[in-house]
Amino acid sequence: MSASDSLRAALSTDLDTLREAGQYRWLRHFDSLQEPVTRVDGREVVLLSSSNYLGLARHPRLVAAAREATARHGTASGSSRLIAGNHPLYEELEEALALFVGAESALVFATGYLANVGMIPAIAGEGDVIFSDALAHASLVDGCRLSRARTEVFRHNDPQTLEAALRANAEARRKLVLVDGVYSMDGDLSPLPDLLAVCEREGAWLLLDDSHGTGVLGERGRGTAEHFGLAGRVPIQMGTLGKSLGSFGAWVAGPRELRETLINRARGFIFTCALPPAALASSLAALRVLEDEPEHRARLWENTRHLREGLRSLGYDLGGSETHILPVFIADASQVMPFCEALLDAGVFAQGIRPPSVPEGASRLRVCAMATHAKDQLDRALEAFDRVGRRMGIIS
Ligand SMILES: *Cc1c(COP(=O)(O)O)cnc(C)c1O
Repeated sequence: MSASDSLRAALSTDLDTLREAGQYRWLRHFDSLQEPVTRVDGREVVLLSSSNYLGLARHPRLVAAAREATARHGTASGSSRLIAGNHPLYEELEEALALFVGAESALVFATGYLANVGMIPAIAGEGDVIFSDALAHASLVDGCRLSRARTEVFRHNDPQTLEAALRANAEARRKLVLVDGVYSMDGDLSPLPDLLAVCEREGAWLLLDDSHGTGVLGERGRGTAEHFGLAGRVPIQMGTLGKSLGSFGAWVAGPRELRETLINRARGFIFTCALPPAALASSLAALRVLEDEPEHRARLWENTRHLREGLRSLGYDLGGSETHILPVFIADASQVMPFCEALLDAGVFAQGIRPPSVPEGASRLRVCAMATHAKDQLDRALEAFDRVGRRMGIIS
C-alpha cells in the first residue's frame, strides 16, 4: 500500500466514526454572503445563521474604507507586525478600540482564536491556576491547554462555585478567570457584576471574551461590560472584529503592560502575518458607524424580539436566552440535522448544532436575526418553522 493509500484508509475510518456518531460536518455553498436572503446549496433561504448581526459587512462605509485602504496600501501587510508589517492604521485602530471599551490600551490580533490561544499562555503558566466557565469558547479552552497552568472548570455562570474554587487555590501564583460575555450557543449573559466582585475579592484577573456582546450590547454597543454599567472595570477584555463589526481580526484590551507583554510573548501575535490594510480600515469604519448610526442596533433588537416571540408562541423551547442568539432546542438529537435540512427546503437556514460543539443532550438550531432582515422575511421564516416543526412532530 502506498503512503497516500494508507493515509486515505486511516482517515476514512476516522470519518466513518464521526458519521456513526452523528458528528460528521461538511461545507455548504452560499451564492452570496451576509445578505438577509441568500442561496444555500441552490435553495433560496432566509439566512438566520450569520454573526454579521448588525449587517455591517455590507455597509457602504465599510466597503468604501476597505476599497480605499487597498488602493492606497495594497492587499497585504506582507509580514508579521514585529518585522515589517506594522502600519499607522494598526495604531489608529488600537487607540480607537481602547477608547471604545474604556481600556488603557488595545492590541489587534489576526483572529479571536489566535488572540485567545496566544494571550492565555503569555500571562499564565506553571504554578498558576486558570478558572474557566464550563461553557467558555473553544479558543479559551485551547489557550488553557497551551499554557502550563492548571485549569479548573467551574459551573456555568455560577459565581459561588467560582468563589469556592478560587478559595481552594488561594496559594496559586496567579489566578486567571475566563468567561464569555454572551455565550455563543445559548445566548445567555454572564453574571458579570457578581463574577467581577468575586474576582476582585479573591485577587483573580477576569478575562472577558466579548466576541458576541461587542457592537450589540450596551447603550452605545460597547458590549457586555457597558450593558452592566462596568465599562472600564474588567481588567482584560477581548473580542472579534469579524462578527458584529463586519470586518476581520480581533482585539485584546487592558493595561499598557498587558499590550507590551502580548507583543513580547504571545505566539499567536508574533508568529503570524499582520492583517491586511483593508481589514484595519473597515474595522475603523465599523467603530465610527456604531457611534453615528445606533439604528442598526435598534433594528437588531427589534428583529430579535419579533423572532423570539414568534418562535416561543409556536411552542419552541429557547432555553435561557436573553440576547440576540436564540437556541431552538430539539429534544431528540437525531432530528436536529433532518430538521435543519427540511427547513432549508422550506426556505430557512438555521444551522443545527450538535456535540461536541454543545453538550450531549443539548442539540439545537442556532437562530439569529440580523439588523438587515425585513419583517416579512422573518415572518416567512416563522411560517416555515411552524409548518416543518409540526410535520416532524417537534412542536404540536
Ligand atoms: C468567534 C469567537 C471567537 C473567535 O473569533 P474569530 O475572530 O472568529 O477567530 C472567540 N471567542 C468567541 C466567544 C467567539 O464566538
